[in-house]
Amino acid sequence: MDTKEYSNGEITILWKAEKCIHSGICVKTLPKVYNPKERPWIKPENATTAALIDQVSKCPSGALSIKK
Ligand code: SF4
Repeated sequence: MDTKEYSNGEITILWKAEKCIHSGICVKTLPKVYNPKERPWIKPENATTAALIDQVSKCPSGALSIKK
């Protein structure tokens, strides 16, 4: 499975493209981090680690996770 990694230096967000149902919840919750029109589309440095963890837990498909 193709997994992409995005780090803010403290934690790393994992994103599995084929699991994403494009609900847009991540984009609505943290628009400065998630922007599908830009590359990279996830910029974790634009939010606190706590905000990122909270947001990842709200992804309905399991496409987003935190690297352990
Ligand atoms: S919240 Fe999860 S499923 Fe929805 S667009 Fe973001 S990554 Fe994809």
